[in-house]
Amino acid sequence: MKKITADYHLHSDVSPDCNTPMEESCEAAIQKGLTELTFTEHMELFSAHFKRYPISYMQQYFDHLARCREKFDGKLVLRAGVEMGQGQVDREWEKTIIDLFPFDFIIGSVHKMDNVDMGKMAFADAAETEHIIQQNLDYLWELVDTCDFDSLGHVDLVKRYAANHGIKVNLADYADRLTPILQRLAERGKALEINTSGIRQSPKEALPSVQILKLFKAVGGRYLTVGSDAHLSKDVGADFDIAREMALEAGFHHIALYEQRKPILVSIDE
Ligand SMILES: [Zn+2]
Ligand SMILES: [Zn+2]
Repeated sequence: MKKITADYHLHSDVSPDCNTPMEESCEAAIQKGLTELTFTEHMELFSAHFKRYPISYMQQYFDHLARCREKFDGKLVLRAGVEMGQGQVDREWEKTIIDLFPFDFIIGSVHKMDNVDMGKMAFADAAETEHIIQQNLDYLWELVDTCDFDSLGHVDLVKRYAANHGIKVNLADYADRLTPILQRLAERGKALEINTSGIRQSPKEALPSVQILKLFKAVGGRYLTVGSDAHLSKDVGADFDIAREMALEAGFHHIALYEQRKPILVSIDE
């Protein structure tokens, strides 16, 4: 496909941080010529059973999905997804949710360290920023090494929050720690996500950069997924032309779509 027409990371109003009805984003996707969507609602995990999203939350997602599958039948393929935040901190819940629901695709993301969202951290000085990055790398390693997921979401998300505080972070500068993470991801046959939200937000570039995609390729990475991380219908499929260019520049000729958690490679060559 010359154009990427599948969005594998977006949210609906099922997610606590999103107010856009699923129907609205489905309609926007059709208008934009997309053919496939995977709504990946947040399932945030907390350590020490601090808090859990209830089963009914996920059930609500599948109810909305069933409605949209019926409504947009023949126009849009809708896969079942979830964005699992730091699954390693509550393994029991991670397994419970994955066993209970028929997911096609699971994003593994790190949003929180010690139950605190990176977006709420102060990045007050160089020492604190360094501490956040190192802790984030610890969490990313544990996630890719042990969690049950298909694609690693926005690996250098920390650069978005640092950029919000006027600090430029390039995770590729931490190659000694990032390389083993990408290597483990490749070894486990999992995908790396190109998340285009960074382009329209403070970092002004995709998460991750093409430099990191090249590193993933160099350590044997095969699968890339592409998502807008849209929380608004106007952002569905945003900047996928840039994502495609980045993938090609890094030496990838395919992106991966998922059905029942099995990757299906689709060509992105001319
Ligand atoms: Zn995320
Ligand atoms: Zn997301």
